[in-house]
Amino acid sequence: MNILLVGSGGREHALSWQLAQSPSCAKLYAAPGNPGIEAHAECVATAADDLDGLIAFCTERGIDFVVVGPEAPLVAGLADRLRALGIATFGPGAAAARLEGSKGFTKDLCARAGIPTAAYVRCTSADEALAVLGGFSIPVVIKADGLAAGKGVVIAETREDADAAIADMFDGAFGSAGAEVVIEEFMSGEEASFFALSDGSNVMAFGSAQDHKRVGDGDVGPNTGGMGAYSPAPVLTPDLEAQVMDRIIRPTVATLAAEGTPYVGVLFAGLMLTGAGPKLIEYNARFGDPECQVLMMRYAGDLAALLYAASTGALASATPPAFASDYALTVVMAANGYPATPEKGGAIHGIADAESGGVRVFHAGTARGGDQIVAAGGRVLNVTATGRSVTEAQMRAYAAVDKLDFPTGFCRRDIGWREVAREAE
Ligand code: AMP
Repeated sequence: MNILLVGSGGREHALSWQLAQSPSCAKLYAAPGNPGIEAHAECVATAADDLDGLIAFCTERGIDFVVVGPEAPLVAGLADRLRALGIATFGPGAAAARLEGSKGFTKDLCARAGIPTAAYVRCTSADEALAVLGGFSIPVVIKADGLAAGKGVVIAETREDADAAIADMFDGAFGSAGAEVVIEEFMSGEEASFFALSDGSNVMAFGSAQDHKRVGDGDVGPNTGGMGAYSPAPVLTPDLEAQVMDRIIRPTVATLAAEGTPYVGVLFAGLMLTGAGPKLIEYNARFGDPECQVLMMRYAGDLAALLYAASTGALASATPPAFASDYALTVVMAANGYPATPEKGGAIHGIADAESGGVRVFHAGTARGGDQIVAAGGRVLNVTATGRSVTEAQMRAYAAVDKLDFPTGFCRRDIGWREVAREAE
């Protein structure tokens, strides 16, 4: 197959590494790719949100299969347009991608399908939101309905904070994403991420992970796209995974299929493991970044064939993924100033040295500056290692981090701390 991978982050570098090794992949292109992806794919200068450009490229080059990394082109309808041309595409159409594009849509779907999640009310005006707030206890969760790059969620610890969050959102703090707001009951518990492939009707579990969203050690400071992750997440026991498949994933896929908007691609479920069992926090319509990097690090098999099976209604007869029993852990190296004002242009050396001994350094926001690799985004590199325990994977990842020469970058020093503490018990 001739395959086009859409995207340019660490997630796509990890996918390109696995896709290029797949026996069923003849030629791999990436649009637009990044300097790390260049080692595995021919990068083409078409942006991930240039739908017309991507479609023109696919028809000109006879692309058989498109794997879409990020959510924005999915929400904009890229998969629908490609499938209309007969090109197999891994990723949901715009209607099913509303699982990520609209929090209110997902909450209503949960209500229709009886999926465990926090109690909620959708509101389209500040007056309405303030009126329903009294029905919730504090802390309460206020969410902008639309895509807000992971930033549109406020956990309000006081009624005043809740009032302020509602005023901000309806004042346009998140642009059109905040034109509608969801008010939610606060759930307590440990969070975990679960992934499942869907071909529209059949589903297949695709592993678990835990990530670290806050910028600072000890989970403090502002939220980010993710500062590190590990897989699998041992808190998600086989019994809990079975519950997630039966009570959350299968009813979601069945409901979307019954309503004429089948879900094709990967369902990324953000879960809260509460005293009353796993509950859905949110869905994403694509692999997580950096969760994908740790899943790919453990994946063994023909990834292109499996994702193609999910994209062509053939998941029921596909070979399930064989993940290594080892743990994988990734540390995100970010540019100083991230997440608010990341410093661009800083030179990075020592990547080859860091990769000795089986560690992989996936590129996220990097660029070529002359013959050097330089920082070109907030999250810059994902230093990814495996080990027989999370503790061992963590040790190897930080040993590799210490071989990198990236003076204008930083990372958290405690990725995996929950599991490392449990392993020490
Ligand atoms: P989301 O973008 O919906 O995943 O929310 C971002 C983060 O906010 C989640 O990873 C949780 O840490 C937190 N969060 C969202 N909804 C809730 C909730 N109902 N109860 C507790 N925490 C939540």
